[in-house]
Amino acid sequence: MNRNSKKETNGSSKEENLICPECGSVCIETSEEEYSFPYGIGEDSVNLKPRVPIRTCSDCGFSFLDHVGEGICHDAVCKHLGVMSPSQVKDLRKMYRLTQVEFAEITKLGPATLSRWERGIVIQNQAYDNYLYLLQFPENLNKLHSHVKSSSEEGELVETGIPCRQEETLVRRIIPVGSPGFLFANAS
Ligand SMILES: [Zn+2]
Repeated sequence: MNRNSKKETNGSSKEENLICPECGSVCIETSEEEYSFPYGIGEDSVNLKPRVPIRTCSDCGFSFLDHVGEGICHDAVCKHLGVMSPSQVKDLRKMYRLTQVEFAEITKLGPATLSRWERGIVIQNQAYDNYLYLLQFPENLNKLHSHVKSSSEEGELVETGIPCRQEETLVRRIIPVGSPGFLFANAS
């Protein structure tokens, strides 16, 4: 659980609202540091080194990453994989002023899937990322929209029975292995 302020995107690292998960102290200091963590397996393994705000408790000395740092680590993984980051996926949908349900209706991406991508719970695979890339062009979304409409008018709703939903389980989840002192709070 994370009680920290949700709106902490604008660089100014406000320490207020931060609570030490170890001792409950609110005296938290932030330092911007390079945080190195391994990603991938075997030959593909790399060390990613984003700069993140490291929170350190002034009372007990416990250091941790909060959701801001986790988000930056997640973005670093997306950048490494060459896929859209969660905020880019969200921005794409927002560009069309569509809700997740509306966007899912047109694209046939499940709203739950979309939500997981936008929250950074899972990373879309390359094929889905290519799909998202094409959806950045309004003419493609428009074409798809009219295609979906005409299909449903003919009573042949595009079924979601394509078994590739399973691909989602192949999506690599970001699990940076930090030193024991680092906290990776669960999303949601
Ligand atoms: Zn503490």
